[in-house]
Amino acid sequence: EVMKSGRLHRYNTVEGELSEVDQLELEFAEYMGQKYALACSSGGYALHVAMRAVGVKKGDLVLCNAFTLAPVPGAIHNAGGVPVLVDVGEDFCIDLEDLATKAQDSGARFLLLSHMRGHIVDMDEVMAICKRHDIIVIEDCAHTMGARWNGQLSGTFGEVACFSMQTYKHINSGEGGFLSSNNPEVMARAIMHSGSYMLFGKHKAAPDEEVFAQIKYETPNYSGRMDSLRAAILRPQLKDLNRQCERWNKRYRIIEQVINQSRVLNIPARPAQEQFVASSIQFSALGWSEQKICALVDLAAQRGVVLKWFGADTPEGYTSRYDSWHYIEKMPHLPRTEHHLSSLLDMRIPLTFSEEDCQLLGEIICEVAEEINAQEA
Ligand SMILES: *Cc1c(COP(=O)(O)O)cnc(C)c1O
Repeated sequence: EVMKSGRLHRYNTVEGELSEVDQLELEFAEYMGQKYALACSSGGYALHVAMRAVGVKKGDLVLCNAFTLAPVPGAIHNAGGVPVLVDVGEDFCIDLEDLATKAQDSGARFLLLSHMRGHIVDMDEVMAICKRHDIIVIEDCAHTMGARWNGQLSGTFGEVACFSMQTYKHINSGEGGFLSSNNPEVMARAIMHSGSYMLFGKHKAAPDEEVFAQIKYETPNYSGRMDSLRAAILRPQLKDLNRQCERWNKRYRIIEQVINQSRVLNIPARPAQEQFVASSIQFSALGWSEQKICALVDLAAQRGVVLKWFGADTPEGYTSRYDSWHYIEKMPHLPRTEHHLSSLLDMRIPLTFSEEDCQLLGEIICEVAEEINAQEA
């Protein structure tokens, strides 16, 4: 219908009509139980706009997980901020002790918390630390759309949350991003940044027009809107999200159970409060050398199983270690993070895999690991 109408731009509507983007934003805000939502061009774009909207200025320090994807430190840099990298723990979450220390010592006023690969840290602890140091929390929920901590949706803890809808995330329009928030000024700035010209009054999941009175003069337009075609692709997927989350977790439990029987591979236990959505699985080959890990990845690939290794010192494909982001000023040395990443393997769980496929994938991974382990011995 959108293609037939020819009206693909979000503001190209006829009298009284809500565009697909307007409707998607209303539906996403409702899903999140938040007052406001904004759809935009990508997850990385949402993160950049969120940084600006909460007030990150040139030279401001922003705490951020050292284990995350490149668009996260990239968004901080894009806003003029300086990432302060925080260690990852053996549970693949941000290390709370290091966070508390760096919150104290750096004087940073912002935390961009990335729920990397869907691992949700103890949110009660994070919020307590940030409250103590008057730190604004921005959540990167690229892998936690639909997930919860202790019953509360991921993305509703901080001041603003960002999501990605590119192909490998929980709903997929090829490219796309969301911001959600309850803060009217933050959302008004995000809407202006996203390229709303003076059409912000058309936004429905948005604060009242009065909130824009001053903001509209002060907020640069960084065009990055979502179009109606993508919104039309996303709306039915959002309705189906909870069912899809269950399908991911069912597949995860199958692979997890097989890998847990392996003597050489390890999956850290996850706390009961973490109601994750496992669109990927992480496990460690603890104590293995680089050579052994590479042999495992190669042998798995020969048997058709694509594993990613986050410990490689040369960045490859989607994966990169924090120390490959050379633009970060005063790059810290984080031996604990490097230690945890050095044995961390990762596999996506596409829903096109049947439950039988997942059983087989788990078995192949274990067989390959045993075989490499035996060679070494
Ligand atoms: C995918 C992803 C993003 C944003 O990605 P885009 O490709 O810009 O949509 C942000 N953080 C993490 C952890 C991601 O995996």
